[in-house]
Amino acid sequence: MVTLTSAPDAGGIESAGVADARGNLTVLGASPSWQNAGEACSSYLVDVPGTRLMIDCGNGAFAELRKRYDYLSVDAIAITHTHGDHMLDLLPMAYALLYSPRALRGESRRPKLLLPPGATERMRAIFDLIDRAELLDLAYDAVEYDPAEPTHLPGLTLEFAPVPHFVPTHAIGVRTEAGGRLVFGADHRPSQRIIDFAHGADLLMLEATLVEPEGGTRGHITSVEAAEIAVQAQVDRLVLTHMSDELPREQLVAQAQAVHAATSLARPGATYAF
Ligand SMILES: [Zn+2]
Ligand SMILES: [Zn+2]
Repeated sequence: MVTLTSAPDAGGIESAGVADARGNLTVLGASPSWQNAGEACSSYLVDVPGTRLMIDCGNGAFAELRKRYDYLSVDAIAITHTHGDHMLDLLPMAYALLYSPRALRGESRRPKLLLPPGATERMRAIFDLIDRAELLDLAYDAVEYDPAEPTHLPGLTLEFAPVPHFVPTHAIGVRTEAGGRLVFGADHRPSQRIIDFAHGADLLMLEATLVEPEGGTRGHITSVEAAEIAVQAQVDRLVLTHMSDELPREQLVAQAQAVHAATSLARPGATYAF
């Protein structure tokens, strides 16, 4: 059974965490590598008591964040991989953290930025090409996560697992102190790794980029393949994301539901408890 609670009130900026000990996942952007009409690329907000975590910060994500939340309330950002649709809005967010009227008044924040192993230099190079490399470290407390070691933040533990994609990519697991577990697969081709990593999760969010398996070197999955992973990993609920609005999405979700019944489509603003 999918627990879909109401989206945060877009009329008011919410700045505190959730009231109970469970975690909440809110979809900021669920587009594939190009934006769906009126939507943002990959970005999700996880709230547990003590920590507000952004997972990915794709193009368009910062505006979506600002619709509902105070950007100074973000404690940490974890990036799955350095494809643009998963991290490009780190630059406008850096500008806001450093140069917005609030920042110039002294309302500053330097969120922890959890980057894939080896990605820090790549991120500095991207910032340097567009503006200045040092913006990355001025705006963020950037550290590279180690997939062999969990990362602890107040109220949650993060785990990372390498998954096969076109560039080094990590699935992210979030475990709450109340025992809930969310797994986000990031982008990947079918593999045993994501099945093992997601095993028993309360909430699994997987990309569903394709209608049919692609030829050549694979880097993505279909909605039915996502549902098959959910069945093999014995997860409670599956949320499909990274799906183009030019596809028959309702039909593709229905095909996935025939394999794993508790499957839904990520919609911007939707919140899932775990
Ligand atoms: Zn992507
Ligand atoms: Zn990608």
